[in-house]
Amino acid sequence: MGKRYYCDYCDRSLPYSVEARKKHDYGHHHQKLKKHHFDQFKSAREQLQDELSREKCRRFHSGQDCSFGDTCIYSHLTDIDISNLKQQAREEELQLKKLRLPTLVKNGKEPSLESWLSRKEQKVQSTSDYPVEDSTDWELKYTIPPNVVVSCLPPSLIPPSAESLLQYEFVDWG
Ligand SMILES: [Zn+2]
Ligand SMILES: [Zn+2]
Repeated sequence: MGKRYYCDYCDRSLPYSVEARKKHDYGHHHQKLKKHHFDQFKSAREQLQDELSREKCRRFHSGQDCSFGDTCIYSHLTDIDISNLKQQAREEELQLKKLRLPTLVKNGKEPSLESWLSRKEQKVQSTSDYPVEDSTDWELKYTIPPNVVVSCLPPSLIPPSAESLLQYEFVDWG
């Protein structure tokens, strides 16, 4: 038995030779089935554009059977099909827009302006009560990593203490 070539699109096998395969690949039947295969993965908007760019199939729309079925080069979509497809395309677009939103907004947890303002208010109050930051904040911010030997640090890298800043004397430059 000679080598055979199996075409997934057409679901048939044929004797293999370069010419035979080329001839098959350019064949009308194969091209239609191949297009049909990829059409399944088109978005609703692409399908809609594709269908609207084709003429309506006269046989199909006059109530007769069109032997080409799904692979007909003319459009078999009815007005209802088209309006359904339009609806689908709109929904697709909404989904896409949703995907592009920030995570908080997507999960319905968008921070409100009110909560932001009230937090800001609290912050302003707390800083006016304590001119020096809360001591735990302070320590967190200026803690030296444990593997650093403090005595080797240049003065500019030594974490300031609250006291040292309160006693600081400002110097005029220049
Ligand atoms: Zn084929
Ligand atoms: Zn048709």
